[in-house]
Amino acid sequence: MKTYQRLGMMGGTFDPIHYGHLVAAEEARYQLELEKVIFIPAGRPPHKTKREISAARHRLNITRLAVASNPFFMVSDIEITKPGLSYTINTMQIFKDKFPQAELFFITGADAVLEILSWKRVEELLRLCYFVAATRPGYQLAELSKNIPGFPINGTKRIITMEVPALAISSTDLRQRVREGRPIKYLVPEAVEAYILNNNLYRLHPNPTFQKNNRRGSQQ
Ligand code: ATP
Ligand code: MG
Repeated sequence: MKTYQRLGMMGGTFDPIHYGHLVAAEEARYQLELEKVIFIPAGRPPHKTKREISAARHRLNITRLAVASNPFFMVSDIEITKPGLSYTINTMQIFKDKFPQAELFFITGADAVLEILSWKRVEELLRLCYFVAATRPGYQLAELSKNIPGFPINGTKRIITMEVPALAISSTDLRQRVREGRPIKYLVPEAVEAYILNNNLYRLHPNPTFQKNNRRGSQQ
């Protein structure tokens, strides 16, 4: 098996994956000289149990479609094939066992880092991997570092902040757009857009008018 020194991990529900995720991952790869970034669609994220989440196979498929054109990106189905709730710490431990040589960098949006204090066994998690906090619209870096005063563990700062071109895209907004028949073009990769429309994702009731309009639009 190939040994890696520096691996990025991008966890998320990816319901759906969008350019915000992809830009953050690519920027982290470049800035932190990561050899690969592994996208890990969540099985059943502990904090999202209230909302209906799309079937795991759809989220896995769109994640694979989204990363296909980037040779540095990979997808792991580890959380999806594992029964029960997904905890980042368990996933990180599995990757640490698999790649003992590698430094792991868990890439998140700045808002997600602000939440980590509530995560299960956060200190242990920060020993296993670095956290890379990508700035996101509405989340200031200064605000972030104020809230997390370094989190020093053994004298090392385990949270790295990283500026990325701000993309005001969220999966929540994308789902709503699809539901309302508004466009998602240029917010997600084309293959992801096509997959969402072809599989009728995010539509409570398939809406024939929307599909007809959409077909007509693509023929022009
Ligand atoms: P939802 O609206 O359903 O919560 P989301 O767009 O936040 O979806 P997630 O799958 O929850 O997407 O996010 C996975 C990771 O990507 C999180 O760490 C999140 O902070 C980060 N992220 C999401 N959107 C962006 C963005 N536009 N720019 C940078 N990071 C992002
Ligand atoms: Mg989110």
